Amino acid sequence: ALAVRDVTKRFGGLAALSNVSFDIRKGEFLGLIGPNGSGKSTLINVVSGALEPTSGTLEAHGRRLSLGRPEKTADERIGRTFQGIRLFTDFTAIENVALGAYCRHQRWTGSGGAGYFAIWRREAAEVLELVRVPASMWSRDVTTLPYGIQRRIEIARALMGHPHLLMLDEPTAGMAEDETQEIFALVSEVARERDISVLAVEHDVPVMRTYCDRVVVLNFGQLIADGSPEVVLRDRTVVEAYLGQS
Ligand code: ATP
Ligand code: MG
Repeated sequence: ALAVRDVTKRFGGLAALSNVSFDIRKGEFLGLIGPNGSGKSTLINVVSGALEPTSGTLEAHGRRLSLGRPEKTADERIGRTFQGIRLFTDFTAIENVALGAYCRHQRWTGSGGAGYFAIWRREAAEVLELVRVPASMWSRDVTTLPYGIQRRIEIARALMGHPHLLMLDEPTAGMAEDETQEIFALVSEVARERDISVLAVEHDVPVMRTYCDRVVVLNFGQLIADGSPEVVLRDRTVVEAYLGQS
């Protein structure tokens, strides 16, 4: 569904990504791993269109996405979450999710779309149910809700607009093993139902083995492995990249 070709992203003299190429196939659950600072978040930012790559191309469904205009780089049907929670404070849970659609609408049409709020609210309720946020929490200010629930709300927001690709940047950071398992079980169920491809940054090895069809590994901005979890997680180069970290 999506092809990343020779993508390089430089920040001054630092190459956060160097000639990275890989594919995300339709309906595939892809894990993205690598030591701290290896370029994982940068890759998600480039694919989502939040960052303009220095060079390289992205293709979605065989269509080349335009470069040089960051806001138009990515496909409009890509949903993503951020490594650190980025919810709109002073808004309720359901407003946060509906606002996801509002922001996207503004970005793509340049208009406010106030007439759509009822529709967005309905869709927001639907996706909040999918990620199992209890209805009793929907009208509460997000900042008063538990951390794990805030993470689910971010996933719900990313699911607005029926994305083809969902990118999750460490969606379970700081969570216990059982909650991590629960989030991944839920995402993979939703992805299967809605035929969504998933790219998830995750460090939990049992979780990778259970849920990922494929794993890609970054090290110093270079893609050093791409394959099944069984093969990649045992790869010596991959293990050494992590050992070299500390
Ligand atoms: P982590 O596991 O800590 O989340 P990561 O694999 O997500 O790391 P990135 O955040 O993509 O790594 O960072 C890759 C490299 O690019 C790092 O050296 C980082 O300091 C640098 N970097 C990232 N964003 C910027 C930026 N906006 N300006 C300058 N340098 C940046
Ligand atoms: Mg990161």
